[in-house]
Amino acid sequence: MNKEEAKSRIDELRRELEQYNYEYHTLDQPSVSDYEYDKKTRELIDLEEEHPDFVTPDSPSQRVGGAPLDAFQKVQHEIPMLSLGNAFDEQELRDFDRRVREGVDGEDVDYVCELKIDGLAISLKYEDGLLVRGATRGDGQTGEDITQNLKTIKSIPLRIEQQEPIEVRGEAFMPHRSFLAMNEKREANGEEPFANPRNAAAGSLRQLDPKIAAKRNLDIFLYGVGQWEAGELESHSERLEYMKSLGFKTNPEWKKCNDIEEVIDYVTKWTEERPNLNYEIDGIVIKVDSLEQQETLGFTAKSPRWATAFKFPAEEAITKLTDIELSV
Ligand code: NAD
Repeated sequence: MNKEEAKSRIDELRRELEQYNYEYHTLDQPSVSDYEYDKKTRELIDLEEEHPDFVTPDSPSQRVGGAPLDAFQKVQHEIPMLSLGNAFDEQELRDFDRRVREGVDGEDVDYVCELKIDGLAISLKYEDGLLVRGATRGDGQTGEDITQNLKTIKSIPLRIEQQEPIEVRGEAFMPHRSFLAMNEKREANGEEPFANPRNAAAGSLRQLDPKIAAKRNLDIFLYGVGQWEAGELESHSERLEYMKSLGFKTNPEWKKCNDIEEVIDYVTKWTEERPNLNYEIDGIVIKVDSLEQQETLGFTAKSPRWATAFKFPAEEAITKLTDIELSV
């Protein structure tokens, strides 16, 4: 591909991806599969890497999520809510591990593997022990204030035993059972069913009337922190334990791994066992455990260098979803 052709393909991919982002993040109604979206994003990133002079700050490759809806009050994230880099196969996981170890001068690295919940990223802020704000990720800098809707999720504590201000982050999602029941009801009422549990969760939490979210039986797993004034811990795994001790719902399946081989075993196990879960996951998130090493590795404009998301292959998603529908 010559330079002119590359430029024209880059422009075409950007137009398409902008449209897909709008449908997915703003309307909660995707028109293409995540696999197709991820493939085009990868093609764009590869072309931009080959032709760095064509990279612009507004390229979809440089941006997180979608613009917040005007209907909600806007929330500025003091610490941006970023996206994650992706790995699509074992080799890309090994490349991630190599980059990480090079980044910490060859030190040993422990990883924490977590299920990648397919829902909506949200932030919960507590002051004087009380939940004062719940927000969406939005474009990473600016989210939507959806406190009233998030309060309808029963597993979110409204009060915690911790007076210093803290912000925890996680994924709100719709369990399969709630999703199937809701779509059945919608179809019976002649309404369009939701495409998948992720869009159903996002659509439910971005309703102006909290009574609608209350009826949707949503749930949440918390997996990270934003602002944190509650004393320093040394590792991500300690943070997960601490969040759990405060009463936050963390996912029980996370595992600390001593090296990339153990990470690959975890990924293989969950690629097979994914259909047994009663909620949707679209991959595995791998995070460097040591907070000191995380700090050394830092961030790109869009994602931390100390974490990546392994994405399950597309065919898996289709077979497994069918299995689930048949087994319910
Ligand atoms: P991402 O889904 O690749 O990964 C980042 C997100 O993972 C985080 O923001 C968080 O919300 C989530 N997450 C779930 N479990 C987590 C855990 N345990 N720890 C940390 N994070 C966890 O990136 P993204 O920026 O949210 O969205 C991009 C993805 O969305 C695409 O790769 C594609 O799959 C999908 N998408 C699809 C379309 C479409 O039209 N089909 C359009 C836009 C985006």
